[in-house]
Amino acid sequence: MSNTVHREHQMFPVLDASQIAAARRFASGPEAQFEPGAAIYEIAAENAPAWLVLHGTIEIVRRDGLSREASVTRQGVGQFTGEVAQLAGRPSLVAAHAGPKGCTALPFDPAHLRALMVGSADLGEIVMRALILRRVALIAEGGAGTILIGQPGSRQVLQLQGFLTRSGFPNLVLDADNDEEGRALIERAGILPDDLPLVVCPSGTILKKPSERDVASCLGMMPAIDPETIYDVAVVGAGPAGLATAVYAASEGLRVIVLDARSTGGQAGASARIENYLGFPTGISGQALAGRAFNQALKFGAEIAVPVEVERLDYTDGTLSLELAGNQRLRTRSVVIASGARYRKPDIANLSIFEGAGISYWASPIEARLCAGEEVALVGGGNSAGQAVVFLAPQVKRLHLVVRRDLAQTMSRYSSSASRRCPMSRSMSAGRSRTFKATQGPDSRR
Ligand SMILES: Cc1cc2nc3c(=O)[nH]c(=O)nc-3n(C[C@H](O)[C@H](O)[C@H](O)COP(=O)(O)OP(=O)(O)OC[C@H]3O[C@@H](n4cnc5c(N)ncnc54)[C@H](O)[C@@H]3O)c2cc1C
Repeated sequence: MSNTVHREHQMFPVLDASQIAAARRFASGPEAQFEPGAAIYEIAAENAPAWLVLHGTIEIVRRDGLSREASVTRQGVGQFTGEVAQLAGRPSLVAAHAGPKGCTALPFDPAHLRALMVGSADLGEIVMRALILRRVALIAEGGAGTILIGQPGSRQVLQLQGFLTRSGFPNLVLDADNDEEGRALIERAGILPDDLPLVVCPSGTILKKPSERDVASCLGMMPAIDPETIYDVAVVGAGPAGLATAVYAASEGLRVIVLDARSTGGQAGASARIENYLGFPTGISGQALAGRAFNQALKFGAEIAVPVEVERLDYTDGTLSLELAGNQRLRTRSVVIASGARYRKPDIANLSIFEGAGISYWASPIEARLCAGEEVALVGGGNSAGQAVVFLAPQVKRLHLVVRRDLAQTMSRYSSSASRRCPMSRSMSAGRSRTFKATQGPDSRR
């Protein structure tokens, strides 16, 4: 929460009387009264409305570890409950119950909440900022939501952790051997070592050695696709291009669905810091960019389904249809293919054995934690490598950048000058490969 503490007033804003009156026009039902302590919605409740408090208070609690609860906040008059899950009616990560003196509150179901955001610029900005900051705070807390139990740093745990993190889901990893709570659950449920890792969803459902798809359905990340519905636009790929398409098409009132085989944000979601996107003069992390675009698309009512691979495109009787992994089909009037480019991998025998077990293709905070204090080799001389140098160098013991050519030929000037400040010295020249080293220490941030 440390980064967000100073934004408390934006995270939990208080609407004044005129703003409450304006918000009333968008409510999805009449005001409701709750007795002291009454449940308003539970963790994992789907389509839970956001509630605007008119009298009394609402207590918000999150899960803390496997079995404990922790208070998130108490919302008073003029404050509202909800975070980004409420925008799309996805399972709630927190529970709400009436405070010690009860409360009266106005409901805003997901459709009405979205209508408020679009219909009132003033309120829309306040509410959207608050919902995003609340999700960011839950992610920082780590405990509210999904719990992974396994060997931290193992390939399977890293893969699931990466998927959840790229998808903007708070998650916490418990060590199957050393964490008391994790070990107790394994013993209680009679879990065998082969069943690890476990994923405990906010609903309490325990998944043994799940795939990303299993986790996504448990977390409500995949909207039910009705084979009879004909979408106006189906977008293949939820990278920056796909999400931009979704925002523009949905804001024109079209019915839009975005499908991605991996996670939202595409390649950009893996970027530690993007400096050259229009409108972000101070730079933005790929994940923050993806999160903003994702929420913007949800705000206009776009549906986003992840991870769903599109396997085939057909055209019959004037309608396009997409065949999806898992024997699902979807009908649409138009398809936008925003499936991006596939990055090249070095031609090294047995490379795949080490993927996710020492070799990564990006440097997110997860990889940074794994590399902390270690000696790391970074292969490549493009802009992404430059970003990774700047991001990783302050955290690792020693970083070797392995490049084939002069950096001036492959890296833009702003990236190479930032990476060279890490600092780097040429240390090896072998055939067409050259290695530069960046060392941790007082110099590394100069
Ligand atoms: C580490 C890193 C750092 C970067 N930094 C920068 C930077 O600083 N500045 C910059 O300008 N660019 C940067 N880039 C490049 C930038 O991320 C890409 O140019 C951008 O993401 C391309 O956007 P896109 O939407 O076209 O495709 P992508 O981002 O590649 O997204 C395509 C999406 O389509 C999905 N998909 C593909 N096939 C299917 C299918 N059959 N079914 C369902 N889904 C499918 C994929 O899973 C993917 O999520 C960086 C890239 C990386 C990897």
